[in-house]
Amino acid sequence: MSDQNPVFIPGPTNIPDAIRKACDMATLDHRSSAFADILLPALENVRKILRTESGKVAIFPASGTGGWEVALTNTLNPGDTVLAANFGMFSQKWIDMCRHHGLNVHVIEEIWGNGLPVDAFAAALTDDKAHKIKAVLVTHNETATGVTSDVAAVRRALDAAGHPALMFVDGVSSIGSMEFRMDDWGVDVAVTGSQKGFMLPAGLAIVGVSRKALSAMENATLGRFFFDLRNMLDGYPNAGYPYTPPVGLLNGLKVSTEMLLEEGLEAVFARHHRLAEGVRDAVRAWGLAFCATSPELLSDTVTAIVMPEGVDGNALVSHADRKYGMAFGAGLGQVAGKVFRIGHLGSLTEPMALSGIATAEMAMCDMGLDITLGSGVAAAQASYRAAMEG
Ligand SMILES: *Cc1c(COP(=O)(O)O)cnc(C)c1O
Repeated sequence: MSDQNPVFIPGPTNIPDAIRKACDMATLDHRSSAFADILLPALENVRKILRTESGKVAIFPASGTGGWEVALTNTLNPGDTVLAANFGMFSQKWIDMCRHHGLNVHVIEEIWGNGLPVDAFAAALTDDKAHKIKAVLVTHNETATGVTSDVAAVRRALDAAGHPALMFVDGVSSIGSMEFRMDDWGVDVAVTGSQKGFMLPAGLAIVGVSRKALSAMENATLGRFFFDLRNMLDGYPNAGYPYTPPVGLLNGLKVSTEMLLEEGLEAVFARHHRLAEGVRDAVRAWGLAFCATSPELLSDTVTAIVMPEGVDGNALVSHADRKYGMAFGAGLGQVAGKVFRIGHLGSLTEPMALSGIATAEMAMCDMGLDITLGSGVAAAQASYRAAMEG
């Protein structure tokens, strides 16, 4: 029965029935016109969700991590310098990938829980008169710490410095759930995966590429074959794919993007904000602190909650799974054991969120935290009643 419980991990997220059914298909010939009716609308819908007019969309059989690799290997050369900040597990892993590819990473170490250090980026870009920095890496929503950073501010810093570096944005846990404006923010490569805001199983790396990134691609010499954007994009006008596509997942993507666009992006973002506010009010009622060090950083897709001294957040997550059959997010990397996370993105409603808040509350009481049963639930109920007018 517990497989009926929603999950509260920040990806993979709950899969609506309509999307599960769309993924479950009989085999079809991907060289037939039937495939065009899946691929082309899926690409067009993703383009709308990324809010790009001039950029191209590419979809690889991979996860978000593969999308990082698409961004790097298609635009850069060995030894190129990239600017990045380490402020959570995901930003750190992207830095690891850069090093593995022989890039020279200018890393700004930031406290986990802080946002992306835009001022330090601005200073590094202004100092770089020779334009050695070829790309700037931005983790829009640091899923490990529940922190959302200001992508537009990084664009302003690049422009103010008159710096031509490309801007790559990891939007894996933001795109399709919170505001994301590829063109307005001047994003050169936007990366996401299928299993978060798109409410699909894992298996697709979804990438948006600007015209500027496409021209960098012509001279980029980092090793790539499977992830070569040229091979991927060349076939699209005729619904060609450079290898066997995951047809069921792409059909699921067509349906999931239709659902998001039908709900309306603004309504989707507003729903995520309401859900997040209720979770945050619960956390405050429990008397617990956020991993995010400042209120304006709090993410609308995931909340990382600091455990009191002596309580292991990962033990709490295991306990909630064993006793109640409910999945919460464990702490990762530097904050392993110190935080636990409630994911609140994708296919989720207020009543579903309340079940997660209630279960987290029971599990925390079981673990000996000094929490009054019902306190967080009541705070979230009040928040949801007030926000859901009518
Ligand atoms: C989940 C996530 C990733 C990694 O995606 P995979 O699909 O697991 O490869 C990268 N960045 C962020 C911010 C994420 O939340």
